[in-house]
Amino acid sequence: MKSHVESDRPKEECGLVGISTAGNDAARLAFFGLYALQHRGQEAAGISVSDGRAVRTHKGQGLVGQVFEASTLDPLVGRMAIGHTRYSTTGASNERNVQPFVVETIHGPLGLAHNGNVVNADRFRTELLERGAGLQSSSDTEVLALMLAGMEGDTWDERLAKVMPRWQGAYCLTIIAGTKVIAARDPWGFRPLSLGRLPRGGHVVASETGALQTLGCLDIREVNPGEIVVLQGDLVRSRQAVPPATEMARCTFEQIYFSRPDAVWDDLSVHEARQNLGEELARERPAEADVVIPVPDSSVPAAIGFANVSGIPYNEGFVKNRYIGRTFIEPTDELRRQGVALKFNTLAANIAGRRVVMVDDSIVRGTTSGQLVRLVREAGATEVHVRITCPPITNPCFFGVDMGTYDELIAHHLGIPEISDHIGADSLGFLSVPAMMKALGRDSGYCNACFTGEYPVPVQLSMATEKRRFDGALG
Ligand code: SF4
Repeated sequence: MKSHVESDRPKEECGLVGISTAGNDAARLAFFGLYALQHRGQEAAGISVSDGRAVRTHKGQGLVGQVFEASTLDPLVGRMAIGHTRYSTTGASNERNVQPFVVETIHGPLGLAHNGNVVNADRFRTELLERGAGLQSSSDTEVLALMLAGMEGDTWDERLAKVMPRWQGAYCLTIIAGTKVIAARDPWGFRPLSLGRLPRGGHVVASETGALQTLGCLDIREVNPGEIVVLQGDLVRSRQAVPPATEMARCTFEQIYFSRPDAVWDDLSVHEARQNLGEELARERPAEADVVIPVPDSSVPAAIGFANVSGIPYNEGFVKNRYIGRTFIEPTDELRRQGVALKFNTLAANIAGRRVVMVDDSIVRGTTSGQLVRLVREAGATEVHVRITCPPITNPCFFGVDMGTYDELIAHHLGIPEISDHIGADSLGFLSVPAMMKALGRDSGYCNACFTGEYPVPVQLSMATEKRRFDGALG
C-alpha cells in the first residue's frame, strides 16, 4: 500500500554499501549498513558476498529486516560484500529488478549495485540487444553490468575506468568480483558516497556517512566525483578514472530531504544545512504567527531554524506513525479516504486557537499539503501559513529521483497563489534558489534542475512524459 503521503514525496533512489573486512562476517556488516540506509529505499534489498571465487546473493522485495533473517544471512560467508536497498515505483518493483545484479563473465562472476540514473542507458540497452545480448531485467543497472563485463582490460578497475566516460548522468556503484570490492562515483557527484576504515581491519563504502558511523568506521571521507576506490583485504587503493566535471552537480535534495540528518556531505552537516534553510526561509518569507510546527521528520531542523530567526516559539504539531507507509495490508475505503490521517495525528493542545506556521520540505503533487493544512485547521488553528524549505518543483528529475512527470508536478501548472488556494493555506512561501544556496553556503556545485529546468547533463525532455522509460530505471 502506498499512501498519498508516500506518493507526494520525492522518492529517493537507493542505498549502497560495499565492504572488505578481515573476518568472514562481511554480509552481517552489510546488513547493518543497509539497515542504516533503509530510508533510501524500502521496496527491495539484497546482499552479495564473495569468498574470493564464488559470489552468493540473497535478495528480495520488502524492507531489509523482512528480506533478511539469520537463516538467510548465515550462508552468505565471505570477506567481501556489497548491499543495496531499493526504491522503485509499483509495477517496476519486481524480483527481476532487485539488486545486486550478478552476471557470469569470462573473468568470473561480477556483482553490481547502482544508485542513480544513467540518462543515456537506453542507447546502450539498444546496442546490447542489437548485438544479441539477452537481458533479464528492465533496469539500467543490468545494462551497466553487461557493458562493464564486455570491456577489455586486465583488472575490473581498469575495465571500469574505460567504460565510465561513456556513461552520462548519476551513478554511484558498488561492485564485487573475485577478492575485490570496487566503488565508483560519477564525475558530476550527483549522489553521495563515502569511504571509512573499519577499526579491526578493512574498509566500507556507503551512500551516507551515518551507515559508516553505525559500523564504527574511522577516517571517513567522500569518494570523489570520477574516482574509483578498490577495497581488497585490509588495503584500499584509489584512482581518478574520469576528471571531475568542471561544474559539480550534487543533488540539492540530499540536503533538503533525502539524507539522514546525521549525514555529512560536501563537508556540511545535513542537520545544520536544514536548520540554515529554515533560518533563510524565516528571513525571506516571514509570517505573523504564534507557533512554528514541522512536518516530521525531515522538516524538524528547518522549523527550529525558522523559530530561531522569527522569534516565534517552536513546538510539535504532528505525531507521525513512522511504520504505516510500509504496510502491505490494504486499508479500508474509509481509512483510505482519510489518507494522510493514517500517517499523521495532530497535537491539538499545541495548535488550537493559534496562528500556525507549518514548515515542510517540498510540495510535489500537492496532495499531502492540503490534507495536512486541513488537519491543522481541524485541530483548532486560527490561521495556517505554509513555508517550504526549497523553491517550487517545476521540472522532473532525470537523475534517479522520482518526483513525477511534468503533468504531475503542481508547480509546473500553478503559480504560488493558486497552489496556496489549492492547499487551503492562509499564505504560502517557498525559499528562492539564491536563498537556498546561501543557506548551504555554496554558490555553485549543486544540481537545481528540478527548480530551474537547467539540467547539468543533457537530457531528453520527452523522457519525462512517461513515468518511466523502462521499468526499474531508478537505482
Ligand atoms: S533534478 Fe532535483 S532531485 Fe534530481 S538530481 Fe537535480 S536537484 Fe536532485
